[in-house]
Amino acid sequence: MSVSYTEETDVLVIGAGPAGSIAASILKNEGFEVKIVEKEEFPRFVIGESLLPRCMENLEYAGLLDAVDKAGFQKKFGAKFSHVRNGHITDFDFSTQFTKGWSWTWQVKRADFDTILAKEVEKKGVKVSYKSTVTKVSFIQNHASLTTIQKEDGTFYTIKAKFIVDASGYGRVLPRLLKLDEPSDFPVRAAFFSHIKDPNRPKGSDGNRILIIDYTDGVWLWVIPFSDGTTSVGVVGDPDIINRYEGDEINQFAQWIEAVPDLKGRFSPEDIVLGPKKITGYSAAVKKLYGDGFVLTGNSTEFLDPIFSSGVTLASESSAVAAKLIARQLKGEKPDWETEYSDYLKLGVDVFRAFVKRWYDGNLQKIFFTSESNIELKSQICSVLAGYVWDLNNPFVKKHDRAILALANVLGDLKK
Ligand code: FAD
Repeated sequence: MSVSYTEETDVLVIGAGPAGSIAASILKNEGFEVKIVEKEEFPRFVIGESLLPRCMENLEYAGLLDAVDKAGFQKKFGAKFSHVRNGHITDFDFSTQFTKGWSWTWQVKRADFDTILAKEVEKKGVKVSYKSTVTKVSFIQNHASLTTIQKEDGTFYTIKAKFIVDASGYGRVLPRLLKLDEPSDFPVRAAFFSHIKDPNRPKGSDGNRILIIDYTDGVWLWVIPFSDGTTSVGVVGDPDIINRYEGDEINQFAQWIEAVPDLKGRFSPEDIVLGPKKITGYSAAVKKLYGDGFVLTGNSTEFLDPIFSSGVTLASESSAVAAKLIARQLKGEKPDWETEYSDYLKLGVDVFRAFVKRWYDGNLQKIFFTSESNIELKSQICSVLAGYVWDLNNPFVKKHDRAILALANVLGDLKK
């Protein structure tokens, strides 16, 4: 059978977010020809600004850590949770975590972070084509594929690849084209956020800590300070509650600032430098994570919820694992994708899934905001919040949901 195409590569990566750049970098380091196609021009905005220490391992393995380090992003050493109704605060310090690993990471403006990663990958010899949108994929003989790309001028070209990494994030290219999408098991929620100048930021390290505010049942806010003096502020919850204020979006955001004690007096709507923006219904799932000649990584797989900042860490881990398996496969091995990729990822995702579920039903808050202190249990929970969700020595990883419920039960009435 003859096939026509204008370019050929070993691996085609769709999307130049962290998932795409990490996969591309690892595969290039393994000696393969790699090409990235990216719909947008960079820098481009994307949400997902608070990283977890666990993702540092993947940035390091991919050879991308030094470049990010030079950018001077705000260092993140822990996460603080505040309960508006009872005034409790709990602070998780990553240096006290149970699992051995990184004790810090960064809070990043993703436009800058993603651009640094993509540029670094280009320096390694990966060709990145911007303003190039994947519109069609067909699989041909021997797992190879032909991918149709639309350029900015409306013209099309086709790339033949031995393997495709779909790292298209919210674009969900292969889930849409191959009908792999599945509804998420989480209800539809909305996020409303902006970047805003922060002249009244508390002095010292406390002011640079990410703050998660538990506002009312199911509604919470993030405050993520950046190193340039601006801060990302967002509110998340049921769309009806997020949209409850009248007026234009600046006006609505001003009313959220006024309503939340941790924001009032610190932020002013006149100081907004980006947005406010709204996203609704971002949780997603898929039927399968891989197939002949392709793999889904990052947000094109499953996205749970922003509450524990797990997105970029899961994106980096899925891409790092997938890239190593692709390298083995292209060298003639037969990796077991089901156990080595799907089952492995599911383990970590399910830990976060349990934490997200128990946050929204209030059981996790009973643990976070208790006056009883147990240093060992706190360090185990801290490791999950640092992204170390594959350490089976940690009871909050191994038994995740059961461990949370058992502890919440000891601490008081269990919320079902
Ligand atoms: P992306 O970063 O989305 O990159 C995908 C790329 O693919 C994009 O550049 C896109 O332009 C490109 N693309 C899409 N379609 C096509 C196409 N057809 N052809 C070519 N290219 C295409 N995560 C965290 O870790 N910390 C947080 O604090 C956090 N907060 C969040 C808050 C909210 C409200 C939400 C909704 C999510 C949050 N996340 C957070 C999750 C985070 O946004 C994602 O997990 C992360 O961006 C995933 O990275 P990625 O590389 O998979 O995808």
